[in-house]
Amino acid sequence: MTSTSTNPRILTGDTPTSTGLHLGHYVGSLENRLALQDVYDCYFLIANVHAFTTLAEKPDDIRANTLGIVKDWLAVGLDPARSTFVLQSEIPAIAELTFLFAMLIPFNKVMRNPTLKTEIDSKGLGDTYPFGFPMYAVGQCADILAFRPQLVPVGEDQEAHIEMCRDVALKFNQLYCGVGNRVVADEHEKAGGVFPIPKGKVGRVGRLVGTDGKQKMSKSLGNAIFLYDDAKAVQKKINGIVTGRASMTDPIDPNHVLLQYCDVFIGAKDASRAQQIRDDYASGKEVKDGLIKAELGEAINALIAPMRERRAKYETAAGEAMVLDVIRDGIKRANKTAEETLTLAKKAMKLDFVTRVIG
Ligand code: ATP
Ligand code: MG
Repeated sequence: MTSTSTNPRILTGDTPTSTGLHLGHYVGSLENRLALQDVYDCYFLIANVHAFTTLAEKPDDIRANTLGIVKDWLAVGLDPARSTFVLQSEIPAIAELTFLFAMLIPFNKVMRNPTLKTEIDSKGLGDTYPFGFPMYAVGQCADILAFRPQLVPVGEDQEAHIEMCRDVALKFNQLYCGVGNRVVADEHEKAGGVFPIPKGKVGRVGRLVGTDGKQKMSKSLGNAIFLYDDAKAVQKKINGIVTGRASMTDPIDPNHVLLQYCDVFIGAKDASRAQQIRDDYASGKEVKDGLIKAELGEAINALIAPMRERRAKYETAAGEAMVLDVIRDGIKRANKTAEETLTLAKKAMKLDFVTRVIG
């Protein structure tokens, strides 16, 4: 499916802040992408420019991580024949729309964005983060709207960003396209707006907690199980989860990360087994953490083993060449749609002095 498709569109993506994707990405967003790939015209974006907001001094890492994410996408089953892979740094319309949209968002609203605040906290950015860091929230509006999608599959942490993106689209359509203040969001395009007002779609698990049991599983926080981790590494990370029980008959908090993981990864195949584990822990029966962790490790490995195998194919020189081809092909297709959007937006803003062709 390409930009000529008449299917409704999806835009979503990942930032190359680490060598690959983790289980949180899988249950928060990738599962949805896979399920919707045939029904929607999908654009999957690698936010490699935004990776510079926290990794500006590590361009080699960002490049390697970019390739790593595409390898994971292919390994999981995102299909570049049906979907368009978008490399942010090669889509000039995104940068241009970022600047134009920055005029439509009050500065204080960006700085109050709860997702940014949480990130500043959890990533320990203090007060020395670059100007570009809060700017990425505006940039993300451009990432999304450049493709005029109806739907954005994301994890819960992105909801504030989606809200900001909806605000920008509403304001743009009202200011420059003559859409009335009373027109409801779903009717904006019909009323002449350049942009649909996109909706977020949160996955089966909106916020998968990390192995530390505290913060969300995150590439940047050292609490992630990666899709490419080998079987031993997965088990080691699971074994490292602390239950803090003094005896094998002590209950554990029903919200404990071990039980959450059992629900998500054992329960996906066998809901009654996940429930039984919960009941056993609550009943005062003797339960050996080690056995539960082994069962959980096995369930996770069964899920990611086929991905790991497929990813290994892309680790060769020929595999890497294939990944670069996929990226280059995606850039061409993505620019076609994004340029179309920019032309419409500039026309609405009376900025249509010349016709530009990027190819
Ligand atoms: P970083 O730590 O660099 O911010 P990240 O692990 O948060 O990385 P992103 O690239 O920022 O990953 O997020 C990509 C997508 O995955 C987003 O839609 C985000 O909401 C979703 N996602 C990330 N982590 C989780 C999680 N733990 N649970 C559910 N969804 C998640
Ligand atoms: Mg993130």
